[in-house]
Amino acid sequence: MTSSQILKLVEQEGINFIDLKVVDLWGRWRHVTLAKTNFSEKTFVEGVGFDASNLGYAEVFSSDMVIIPDPETAIIEEYDGEKVLSMICDVYEVENMTPCSHDPRTILKKTLESIKDIADEVYLGPEYEFHIFEDVRYDVKPNRIMVEIDSGEGFWKSGETGEYFIGRKKGYHRIPPFDRLMEVRNAIVKKLLEYGVPVKYHHHEVGTCQVEIELTLVDALKAADYTMLVKHVARMVAKQYGYLVTFMPKPLYDEAGNGMHVHQFLKKNGKNIFNGDKLYNLSQEALWYIGGVLKNAPALMAFTNPSTNSYRRLVPGFEAPTNAVFALANRTSAIRIPAYVKDPEKRRIEFRTIDATCNPYLGFAAMILAGVDGIRKHTDPTAEGFGPFEGDVYEKELKPLPKSLEESCVALKNNHQFLTTFPKELIEHWVKTKLIEERQVNSVPHPKEYDLYFDV
Ligand code: GLN
Ligand code: MG
Ligand code: MG
Ligand code: MG
Repeated sequence: MTSSQILKLVEQEGINFIDLKVVDLWGRWRHVTLAKTNFSEKTFVEGVGFDASNLGYAEVFSSDMVIIPDPETAIIEEYDGEKVLSMICDVYEVENMTPCSHDPRTILKKTLESIKDIADEVYLGPEYEFHIFEDVRYDVKPNRIMVEIDSGEGFWKSGETGEYFIGRKKGYHRIPPFDRLMEVRNAIVKKLLEYGVPVKYHHHEVGTCQVEIELTLVDALKAADYTMLVKHVARMVAKQYGYLVTFMPKPLYDEAGNGMHVHQFLKKNGKNIFNGDKLYNLSQEALWYIGGVLKNAPALMAFTNPSTNSYRRLVPGFEAPTNAVFALANRTSAIRIPAYVKDPEKRRIEFRTIDATCNPYLGFAAMILAGVDGIRKHTDPTAEGFGPFEGDVYEKELKPLPKSLEESCVALKNNHQFLTTFPKELIEHWVKTKLIEERQVNSVPHPKEYDLYFDV
């Protein structure tokens, strides 16, 4: 939609409020809601003043910024019967009205511009895994963490004396009535389709009350915008059912975690350049791209797996990767080559490491830059020892991925040249903040420790 079409729509639909959404550094949407009387064609040019101190940027910025809505992201939401026109914004600096170099959406746009010599389009197909709970209570006090989660299918509890779980863990593609979440998934996906999000399918996942929604492949900026929207819509719709949604990578002990696998390929002059006559019908570029992603994986993961909880997911036994290797049709590797893709125009790879605690703009930008770094440097994944591997990759410690947020942050400190569109201050600020998070989590006595050491 164009700005003038939006202004017309606001009149036609009798809309009173225009909601402007902007992503903060850590991947959460923040918003401000304009009264219709304060909205005009000018809003798309001059923008709206916004206090950026809430956005989590490095101190290099004064807090006064301007946000400008992208008319192409317009949707109509409904709050208690009130229609609200919602748009995603970019952040600009007040002085010269240039795009803010720390704005994640701007960084992804710059990234896509910066690789035009290699690819003029990047296609991404994210898969969203998440849990839907009936009730979550948590209580963190000195010397005591208590988490109680009522999944509706069983009761999971973490207490002073360790964790225990009662429930079913075999939910993969189960049908109703065992799949109790069919109705709520239908409702979430119906809303997404109404908003123009190209959902491929949805299903129950392996874990108790764990579900998945998969998108078809779309342009990278859209994929990031849709990621924000999917998380928002899933939460809003679940709320109507009295449910709570979490995308935490490992919400339940000894249960499958939540990944956000991303299928991907690059296009140049309208052609999929991942298709070729090399290994698994991939092109030389695709193999170099794989080499780049895997070689930069430890540093890359500071952006694609940026929570302490991310690393509780990356353990053997739950179809989540533990090694920086690639393989055909293998769900235990960091990169899988889908065996069922026959159409050369859809030739692609799947990066399985990434999870939804990432800021999708930064996570996708970092992932694309890691792959393109491989193309520029001709990084041969086989010569580097990244595979292809067959069989159970869990059996071997091949090319171990970082086991903690601290490990990936240290890797990022030592290797960030490939992140050509990320300001140096942003990377420093990111590492500093993430290491504080890690220290905080590590300093809290773990429930399991009471089990192991209380009586020693
Ligand atoms: N939940 C798994 C992960 O953490 C993936 C399982 C699957 O999609 N088959 O990546
Ligand atoms: Mg899937
Ligand atoms: Mg899945
Ligand atoms: Mg997948």
